[in-house]
Amino acid sequence: MRLHKSEAAFFLFIAVILAAGVMIFHAYDVLFSIANGLAEPERYADVAYLSKLLFATGLLLATGLVFGLFFIFPLIRRQVREENKLRAMTETLSARSQKLEYAALTDALTGMQNRRYFDDALKEYLGEFRRIEKPVGLMIVDLDHFKQINDTHGHDIGDEVLRAVAGCLKDMTRYHDVVARLGGEEFAVVAPNMDVDTLVRFAERIRKAVAGMVIVSGSVRLKVTASVGLAVWDRKENADGLFRRADQQLYQAKKTGRNRVCA
Ligand code: GH3
Ligand code: MG
Ligand code: MG
Repeated sequence: MRLHKSEAAFFLFIAVILAAGVMIFHAYDVLFSIANGLAEPERYADVAYLSKLLFATGLLLATGLVFGLFFIFPLIRRQVREENKLRAMTETLSARSQKLEYAALTDALTGMQNRRYFDDALKEYLGEFRRIEKPVGLMIVDLDHFKQINDTHGHDIGDEVLRAVAGCLKDMTRYHDVVARLGGEEFAVVAPNMDVDTLVRFAERIRKAVAGMVIVSGSVRLKVTASVGLAVWDRKENADGLFRRADQQLYQAKKTGRNRVCA
């Protein structure tokens, strides 16, 4: 059994009282041996008085002991138990709130960041990059004719395609890029420190990687393509403005035949 600090302190206190009790017994012994050897009988009164004092002190110590054991100790125990319960409760609560926070910012299907995380991260990046002279690129990736995949092979296969594309995006991006699933078959990448040319090359690599994937599930083997819209922050617009421009480029990529990058 592990003792709480206050319990240990209490037992130390009891040990001190017991030691004092033992010393009183010893003092009695000494006192009586002195009394037996006394020559003048008039000193007997003093010895009797001293013996009464010792007895009273012993009684006080015994009362302290009983009071400590039957009143203070149960109080300490109860307090320790409540404190432990409270600690366990706070630990559970903080674990639960961490789990909730993770769930609130993570896409359950792909395990990547979700729309909410993306919105906050984009705003944060623009805020940070406002102070330094570096570009911020935004890429929106939308799978082509994804509805057909669902309709032809079923929703579960569609989900597998989404997971495969998510894995591909994670592999292709750098650790400081924000990669998120915005919803459905739409993904986004916030790529800091990339100008238009670099961003286009980066997006082309991603587009080719997606188009080169073969997704195998049972007897089904399928391929998928993606259209990509790009925009580089103009340092004036807000996050919504930047997103709108990238989205317009995505629309352009869809309109001009899909499986392409527009900037
Ligand atoms: P486009 O090339 O114009 O983008 O066509 P599309 O079919 O990809 O786009 P559309 O918006 O018409 O359809 C998107 C489909 O994505 C419809 C919806 O059923 C499917 N979808 C959305 N979320 C999920 C999901 O979590 N899992 C699966 N399997 N399908 C999803
Ligand atoms: Mg689509
Ligand atoms: Mg879409």
